[in-house]
Amino acid sequence: MNIDFNKNSDGLVPAIIQDANTRKVLMLGYMNEEAFLKTNSTKKVTFYSRTKKRLWTKGEESGNFLNLVDIKLDCDNDTLLVEVKPEGPVCHKGTDTCWAEENDTSYGFLTQLEGIIENRKKLSETEPELRKENESSYVVSLFDKGINKIAQKVGEEAVETVIEAKDNNNDLFLNESADLLFHYLILLKAKGFKLNDVVKVLEKRH
Ligand code: AMP
Ligand code: ZN
Ligand code: ZN
Ligand code: ZN
Repeated sequence: MNIDFNKNSDGLVPAIIQDANTRKVLMLGYMNEEAFLKTNSTKKVTFYSRTKKRLWTKGEESGNFLNLVDIKLDCDNDTLLVEVKPEGPVCHKGTDTCWAEENDTSYGFLTQLEGIIENRKKLSETEPELRKENESSYVVSLFDKGINKIAQKVGEEAVETVIEAKDNNNDLFLNESADLLFHYLILLKAKGFKLNDVVKVLEKRH
C-alpha cells in the first residue's frame, strides 16, 4: 500500500474508522507510518495521538479495542478507510460512535444483519453501471424490484411458515421462520425503518 505520508508536514494521514458490519463511521484518528505498521501487525487499530504525542492503541486503557478487518486507501493515497469490529463503545464518552447522541439498542446478529441489508439497499440505489460484478446479490435485486415485491415476498414466506407450523417437521418450520424474519427485515429497511422502531411500539403497549 503506497500511502502518501508526506502530504502533511507532520507525516500523518487521517484514518476514518468504519464498523465493518453496520458500516457506521465510528471515529476519526491519525496514523503515521509506524502506527499503520503496528495496526497491521497487531490487528488492533493504533493511531498517532496528536494530544499524547505518541502511538496510541485505541482501547489500551479502556479495553475497547478496534479489531482490524481491512484498510483501504483513497483515490489520491492520502486518507485511510479502516474497517473494524469494535470491542465495546468506541467513544471515550461511552457512545458507539464519536457523533452519536445515544447508542443503538443491539440485537446481536440481527443488528449485524440489518447493517448488511442497509448496505445492499445503498447498492441498489447506485446506478447499475457503477456496481461491481461481485456486488450483485439477491437482496440488491429485491430492493431493485421495490416495496410491493418485497411485501409480497414477506406474504409468501408467512404463508409457508403457517403451512409448516401445521405440519410437524421442525426443521422446515424453523427454515421458513428464518426466511420470514429475513424478508421482514428487508421490508422494514425498504420502508426506512429498523427493528428497533417496532420494538419501541411493542414497549409502549406493554
Ligand atoms: P482508550 O484508548 O479507549 O483506552 O482511551 C484512552 C484515552 O484516549 C481516553 O481517556 C481518551 O482521552 C482518549 N480516547 C479514547 N477514545 C477516543 C475517541 N474515540 N476519540 C478521541 N479520544 C479518545
Ligand atoms: Zn485523498
Ligand atoms: Zn469520541
Ligand atoms: Zn420460504
